[in-house]
Amino acid sequence: GKRTFTMIKPDAVEAGNVGGILEQITASGFRIVALKMTQMTTADAEEFYAVHNERPFFGELVEFMTRGPIVSAVLEKDNAVDDFRALIGATNPEDAAEGTIRKKYAKSVGENAVHGSDSDENAQIEAGFHFSGREMF
Ligand code: ATP
Repeated sequence: GKRTFTMIKPDAVEAGNVGGILEQITASGFRIVALKMTQMTTADAEEFYAVHNERPFFGELVEFMTRGPIVSAVLEKDNAVDDFRALIGATNPEDAAEGTIRKKYAKSVGENAVHGSDSDENAQIEAGFHFSGREMF
């Protein structure tokens, strides 16, 4: 797969880390083919994270993801999904490898700075959730 979807989450936007994170992404060989700042509504977040709706942290996750703006992007690179998940590191920053985006910027397992799609199929669904065809290049 050549594309993945990412969000820079509200914690990282609030902390002023958008530029640093995008720089690390492009320096790692990803090309930005869609990009925007938005704020998810509660309905948006509940739909985007529907797969987690039975998890104990679901309410907290929806609160967090809607509390401020996010920056969403579609990224292009060979092996994009797996290479991007390697670049961001483990969900919990305590487990994230040195040099990964979450090691550098994440505060906790919940407020973990970035999202990365976990499959080619989800990358396409998630990109389509956030961007229209005219917004992807
Ligand atoms: P993402 O889907 O955002 O790339 P992920 O695939 O690494 O993250 P998932 O297990 O799919 O992690 O969880 C989705 C998101 O839910 C996490 O990124 C995090 O923001 C939140 N989350 C996961 N586990 C917890 C937890 N134990 N407590 C609070 N929030 C959590």
